[in-house]
Amino acid sequence: MTTTRRSFLATAAAAGTITILPFTARGAAHGGGDMFETDMGPVTVHPVHHASIVLETPKGVIYVDPVGEASEYEGLPDADLVLVTHEHGDHYNADILGAVVKDNTALITNPAVHDMLPDALKQKAQSMANGDSATWEQVAIDAIPAYNLTEERKNFHPEGRDNGYVLTMGGFRIYISGDTEDVPAMRSLQDIDLAFVCMNLPFTMSAEAAADAVREFQPTYVYPYHYRGRDGGTQDPAAFAEMVGDAAQVQMGGWYKPGELG
Ligand code: ZN
Ligand code: ZN
Repeated sequence: MTTTRRSFLATAAAAGTITILPFTARGAAHGGGDMFETDMGPVTVHPVHHASIVLETPKGVIYVDPVGEASEYEGLPDADLVLVTHEHGDHYNADILGAVVKDNTALITNPAVHDMLPDALKQKAQSMANGDSATWEQVAIDAIPAYNLTEERKNFHPEGRDNGYVLTMGGFRIYISGDTEDVPAMRSLQDIDLAFVCMNLPFTMSAEAAADAVREFQPTYVYPYHYRGRDGGTQDPAAFAEMVGDAAQVQMGGWYKPGELG
């Protein structure tokens, strides 16, 4: 029940056991991050860049869509699990993947990325299609459909190809949207404690659509991410926060350098 978990977190917040540390900056300051105290221990969020996230959890270190420069990951702990949502260059880069996937790192991708992986990575990767569920280190992983609904955007993310993910560890549930519009599978999510929701045009959705979806599924905390794009598709995370209102607590991450467009 959403209400149960929300009240747990609200109680924990009131008791001062949830600590939100300010995120400082990208790069050398990666030792920062936002920490969420859960019943299993802390979950720390490192917003690396745009769509790239590093999560330190009690079950291990999870990288989502690692791209960019290898140096951006140098101050961070090695990945125990890497999740890839889809094949676009701001989510999948074989070179960086090869660098961050170590011998003991598990790798999960959508089927289309699995098909294009270099052999060394493909041998260890697990493919998950929309609707699939898997378990890794006592973390339940669900592959959530991620696609465009708007006719003129459907070529960017056709239905059935790309994933978002829900990770459930203990009672704590994390949703990562990947690139999507406000599809029914997002709107009907239940009991999400921490969400990462994309917004940029024309590739995904507007801040208005993202906020409207968040008001429906009501995560406890939500990060707007993936909100800038090359084609002037910048969405304003502050406007998003205003539209979300009291439906969720909006967290701002240091996803971009000042003035950076995507
Ligand atoms: Zn994409
Ligand atoms: Zn993207």
